[in-house]
Amino acid sequence: MTTRRHFLQKAGLTTLALSLPFSDSIAQAMGQEPKVLRVAIMGLGSYGARVADAMKDCSRAKLVGVISGTPSKIEQWQQKYSIPAQNCYSYDNVAEIKNNKDIDAVYVITPNALHKEHTIALAKAGKHVICEKPMAVNAREGQEMIAACKAAGVQLLIGYRMHFEANTLDIVKKQRAGEFGKTLFFQGLSGFIIGDPSQWRLNKALSGGGAMMDIGVYSINGARYMLGEDPIWVTAQETKTDPIKFKEGIDETITFQMGFPSGATASCLSTYSLNYLDKFFLSGTKGFAEMQPSTGYGPIKAKTHSGPLEHTHVTHQTTQMDEMAAIILDGKQPLIPVDGEEGLKDMHIVDAIFKAVKTGQKVSIPK
Ligand code: NDP
Repeated sequence: MTTRRHFLQKAGLTTLALSLPFSDSIAQAMGQEPKVLRVAIMGLGSYGARVADAMKDCSRAKLVGVISGTPSKIEQWQQKYSIPAQNCYSYDNVAEIKNNKDIDAVYVITPNALHKEHTIALAKAGKHVICEKPMAVNAREGQEMIAACKAAGVQLLIGYRMHFEANTLDIVKKQRAGEFGKTLFFQGLSGFIIGDPSQWRLNKALSGGGAMMDIGVYSINGARYMLGEDPIWVTAQETKTDPIKFKEGIDETITFQMGFPSGATASCLSTYSLNYLDKFFLSGTKGFAEMQPSTGYGPIKAKTHSGPLEHTHVTHQTTQMDEMAAIILDGKQPLIPVDGEEGLKDMHIVDAIFKAVKTGQKVSIPK
């Protein structure tokens, strides 16, 4: 069998080529530009704008289209990013994107409770979907999204930008290589003070929940990639200091604990009522890793028992979109998955946490 290495060596290509994604290295060696993922953004809000700006520096992904309910934003984005009129859609006519050969993938950056409906519509239109976190508002919806993308033969990726961040990846590699010994404890602190009480994040019909859906998911997901295993049970406790702002179904603060097959445990806090809460701590029998900030837009500050990590900060969404292009176009396998199944694991844990809050019981997590 001709492996990638054999093929490249036969072709007389360099070590540089060996470090690039397969189609990238071949294309580059043959003097061709690597293929670029042509992306439309759905939902031109604050995070959509951040992703669009970050994509200006991408080499493998390009913003070529928009889907929005606000005509004035479409106009502004068309001018700012040179988007042709034929690549602009509203939520009402988005099914027509099926006939657009100039768009490969759509990045869904709308409120959480709309992710399912939007993802399924785009899958049916034959487009690969990148969907923001949380992938949905519960595991059942996540399963429907995965099934729809599978049936349509398109890929579904979740916007887990930290899975491509250099300090995070360094720690994950060290953990997998046993540098911290047996890792038996993770602490995740995720929170910020939320402003405007009228925003969709505090409206259950659009958010699916409060701080947990928005920021708590970082501690859930972080516990899994830092420990390198998936939890089998959770316990959780909710507290509320402002029942007017944080109505029924909108969690203000939840502390939760997770248990893992190895015997490791995680202790986490998710809140909308405290700032300066963005910290991961991983403790093992031979060492530790600490990140603070751990999931903000960066620079991420990280250290281990051996000293600080000094990776250069690159805008997270730029790296994320280039890497996602390589996943979709070249079949590249990321160290930490970003597929729908990865998003679904977090949704199962969110469901279990809400159940644990309600019942006061330890809740098992389905495999
Ligand atoms: P915004 O409110 O800033 O933007 C959401 C956009 O969605 C709106 O501007 C609007 O765009 C569109 N939209 C469609 N229907 C509705 C509706 N009924 N109500 C409100 N907006 C609607 O939110 P964010 O950009 O902050 O968040 C969007 C998603 O991105 C969320 O799922 C969030 O969790 C995720 N996110 C992820 C981050 C990360 O670091 N990975 C960081 C921040 C957010 P239009 O007018 O164009 O239709």
